[in-house]
Amino acid sequence: HPTLRLILGDQLNTQHSWFQRVDAEVTYALYETWSEATYTRHHVQKVCAFFLAMRAFAEQLRAAGHQVIYRTLDESRELQLESITANLLHDAEASKAKTIGYQLPDEYRLDQELKRLSENFGGVIETADTEHFFTAREDVAKLFKGKKTYLMETFYREMRRRHNIMMEADGKTPQTGQWNYDQENRGSLPKDLEFPQAATFPHDAQDIVEMLDRNGVETIGRIADNTLNYPLTRDEAQAALADFVAHRLPHFGTYQDAMTTRLPLLFHANLSFAMNVKLIRPQEVIAAAVQAWEKRPQEITVNQVEGFVRQILGWREYMRGVYWAKMPGFAATNDLNHQAKLPTWFWTGETKMNCLSHAIGQSLDLAYAHHIQRLMITGNFALLLGVHPDEVDAWYLGIYIDAIEWVEITNTRGMSQRADGGLVATKPYCSSANYVNKMSDYCQGCHYKHQEKTGEKACPFNSLYWDFLDRHRAKFGDNFRMAFMYKTWDRYDGETKAAILERAAWVKENANSL
Ligand code: FAD
Repeated sequence: HPTLRLILGDQLNTQHSWFQRVDAEVTYALYETWSEATYTRHHVQKVCAFFLAMRAFAEQLRAAGHQVIYRTLDESRELQLESITANLLHDAEASKAKTIGYQLPDEYRLDQELKRLSENFGGVIETADTEHFFTAREDVAKLFKGKKTYLMETFYREMRRRHNIMMEADGKTPQTGQWNYDQENRGSLPKDLEFPQAATFPHDAQDIVEMLDRNGVETIGRIADNTLNYPLTRDEAQAALADFVAHRLPHFGTYQDAMTTRLPLLFHANLSFAMNVKLIRPQEVIAAAVQAWEKRPQEITVNQVEGFVRQILGWREYMRGVYWAKMPGFAATNDLNHQAKLPTWFWTGETKMNCLSHAIGQSLDLAYAHHIQRLMITGNFALLLGVHPDEVDAWYLGIYIDAIEWVEITNTRGMSQRADGGLVATKPYCSSANYVNKMSDYCQGCHYKHQEKTGEKACPFNSLYWDFLDRHRAKFGDNFRMAFMYKTWDRYDGETKAAILERAAWVKENANSL
């Protein structure tokens, strides 16, 4: 029976059981489509990365002897096949396929689209697992059945036990006696610390950039010299992992939350794109880090590796589970009833606030920012300003190379904007300039003064922070993790409070020109 099997742009897993044998009856199909290039306004590097990685993957399948249909954006537009399913149905008919196969998508949007295939296809539809994650879609929902908050730490410990990662022989006790070294993962950067140069993987993206222009695809961000510096094949992803483990893992945990204008990547892995499109599996990434720690315990202390494992085994799988537990409703949450617009400089980086200018400028240049830049600079600012979560989501979904909805929306609406009513985060991730100054070198030389709350030069984060707490007292006043902050606020006299709130009102009104 002729079979047509779809491979989505984030399903580039050469290790998948589908590819274990060559079958003359099976044709694999990969499509560059208008729908995927425009479902949000993507960073130019993000579209280039997807299309280049898909092209390389198709070549690898062909080289291994598989039959492949690959349609470029030019070609699918020429045929007016603007969606994935339009392409698929077209090819199913042309090849007289009796079966269409697809791997379960990670996005709700595509899941729905593919479920509707049967309305227009009379043959058999087969689905397969992506063979990528540790967990199934519904595992998190099962673990927290009936619970109001989904505590990540509970899930993470369960995952450590279930998969026997960094555990004693009894399978119950964490190796080294402690589950979590978060307290040791908040170091600020010493001035003289040397940064290792990360391996780069330059790819010429000029053809794709020109194709996007030709077809009128609107993008954001920049791509210097039309060169894309990300791992785009499995070999490159493995080389990127090895480079991280050798040179950056030894400091990963300690400086996980630090930020600097000196270097965008610091000690982070930059493996999110490679993992999210499944060039590399989370199991192999974790195994490489744990093995390096076992071999080089003097150099790689436990807080480095545990911090890294928690991000992938914990946060990444947890976010996926939250997504499948709560979609589609999650995409409409706005628990704090925020309504403001994102300041226009989110698309240019042109603000006098050094931290935001740097975090946004870097994102426009590289389609990358590390977690704390996303959470405590751009996310924090949008939260304090009271921006509508739809606006915030659209920005995050567009700008980062690793932004796929299942992991973007849960981080943005849930963790960062607390639009989900506290399902993901037990307390909002918000701070004044004090935190930014402690964790970064951004405040040095900034137009605004990080110590000041009122006056023209006062850092906008400060008045916005108190304004946020004040206006959301009904939500957070009883939260014991925030009691200390409310006590501090209550100690200010009436006049000081009024001046801070007045400054906040000015900041909100003039957000576009800060
Ligand atoms: P490292 O710091 O080296 O961490 C290693 C890996 O851990 C990452 O590659 C990633 O796979 C995983 N990881 C770390 N933190 C998280 C997290 N909170 N959730 C899920 N996985 C995590 N990550 C995405 O992959 N796509 C997104 O669209 C995305 N949007 C985000 C939006 C906001 C507002 C925030 C606060 C975080 C977002 N993250 C997202 C999570 C995290 O910021 C990125 O995964 C990370 O910065 C990628 O860089 P890295 O590979 O160098 O990460």
